Amino acid sequence: MGESRYDRTPIPEETKDERSATFGEILHAYTKEEAILEAQRCLQCQMPFCVQACPITQDCRGYITLIAQDKFDEAAVLTLRDNPLSSVLCKTCYHYCEEDCVMGGKGVPIAIRHLKRAALEHGNSNLLYVPSAPRQERIAVIGGGPAGLMAAWELAVRGYSITVFEEQPFLGGQVDTIPKYHLAGDELDTDLARFKSLDVTFRLGAKAGTDYTPETLLKDGYLAVYVAIGASDPHAAGVPGEHLPGVFPAIQFLLAVNKGPESLFGRKGRKVVVIGGGDVAMDAARSAVRMDATGDVTVIYRKTKADMPADDEEVGGGEIEGVRFLFERAPVQILGTAQVTGLVVQAMRAGPPDGQGRPTSVPVPGSEETIPCDTVIVAVGERADIAGLPTELNFSLSSHPWPQGTKEDWMTDIDGVFASGGKSVVYAMAAGTAAANAIDAYVSKKKGRPSTRRPDAFGAAEPPSPPVGYGGPSWHL
Ligand SMILES: Cc1cc2nc3c(=O)[nH]c(=O)nc-3n(C[C@H](O)[C@H](O)[C@H](O)COP(=O)(O)OP(=O)(O)OC[C@H]3O[C@@H](n4cnc5c(N)ncnc54)[C@H](O)[C@@H]3O)c2cc1C
Ligand code: SF4
Ligand code: SF4
Repeated sequence: MGESRYDRTPIPEETKDERSATFGEILHAYTKEEAILEAQRCLQCQMPFCVQACPITQDCRGYITLIAQDKFDEAAVLTLRDNPLSSVLCKTCYHYCEEDCVMGGKGVPIAIRHLKRAALEHGNSNLLYVPSAPRQERIAVIGGGPAGLMAAWELAVRGYSITVFEEQPFLGGQVDTIPKYHLAGDELDTDLARFKSLDVTFRLGAKAGTDYTPETLLKDGYLAVYVAIGASDPHAAGVPGEHLPGVFPAIQFLLAVNKGPESLFGRKGRKVVVIGGGDVAMDAARSAVRMDATGDVTVIYRKTKADMPADDEEVGGGEIEGVRFLFERAPVQILGTAQVTGLVVQAMRAGPPDGQGRPTSVPVPGSEETIPCDTVIVAVGERADIAGLPTELNFSLSSHPWPQGTKEDWMTDIDGVFASGGKSVVYAMAAGTAAANAIDAYVSKKKGRPSTRRPDAFGAAEPPSPPVGYGGPSWHL
């Protein structure tokens, strides 16, 4: 425990000097003793606000209780029972649970995400999921990101036969772009190894809209199709010069850092400018620092530091590692002929609120300046790539970048085809759960039987119930 019950047991981490030179993980696991101390700070609230804040209703209070009693094997089982991507989430989840932890009102919230990691690392997490009796009913999932994988798991433990169609030669979706200093790289494989007994087939390199469509899958005998293709198409910065060699969309850059080709960013001494103020911009800037100790990295953002949508921890991490920030600057033009030579930016200042009362920023006339650079990374958001998919699906795309069905249960305008996604890994998983429940209800109705609840994923006779005191979700998808 820290100084008092209200202080967190410190999480071991890389020293500030070590960080910027390597992609090694910044945070290290608690020892067993540290994990027990941290778990013993938990008040075991009768009303578990932490569980209510978790989009997948992970029984975190339950695994914390078990860790406090030195029962790491049991804590690992409890964690994995609700959460098939635990190894990924214990390092990447934005820990919505901790925001609602009552200890946060008095001191520092319990390290709920980090204790999940302790449960898996110190308990036996080398387990296999157990399917219910096979149903001989095939469901197709398009997209092998967190939403698609969660839906596949939910349906496969109920005994359905699942095929996941994925455009890329690997699974994971945007999880593959998360830098290795957060996620070492083999966590998804560790999670998927527990799927081995489930009837889930992965068809990699199979793109919807080119190789097949949801309609052709229905004609091929799949009873329902879940479209979980996320938002993989990067927005452009919308300035002249964006076509030049040396300009990269952030997600392409981050994917190449993790999976290759290494040549994408091979040369040393690069002067890099990242456009954007969100978490993806921070990931790109902090990765660029690690790619090239001899270069320099600048982030430009059109509003103030306080307006940045990126997590404070990410911005602070970038500052520690040597990223330079230029606030209230917007890109105007990328300069160069055969290669980028500079970025022209213009100063911005706060403008009048827009029609909906939101703050705006306006350019300051005559304030242009050029930042010399040879690389520009554009991190201004992504949208769905729905090329080749039938317009009859009539996806909703207005309030989120991923395609979503317009019906209450996220069915699209084509009967039996569902679509959704999520703003983070755990929200995408919650969307996958909701889609799986809707698909089970749809198929069950067609077959004239009641819909099913998810059985215990490790084969226990009783399906899992929400923890005592749980009063329903405190969030909305
Ligand atoms: C750089 C970066 C860092 C992030 N860091 C975090 C983090 O630390 N924590 C966190 O919680 N969230 C993070 N996120 C967000 C999180 O990764 C996403 O919210 C989540 O992955 C969305 O899941 P999804 O399944 O809806 O979509 P995706 O993850 O995008 O998965 C969609 C899948 O569908 C496939 N696909 C697309 N089109 C087709 C097609 N036509 N046919 C077949 N397959 C197709 C894609 O290849 C992809 O595998 C990060 C995102 C980015 C970009
Ligand atoms: S809200 Fe915090 S203190 Fe209460 S049960 Fe959850 S983790 Fe423990
Ligand atoms: S999955 Fe995320 S939100 Fe849920 S308990 Fe774990 S860390 Fe918290």
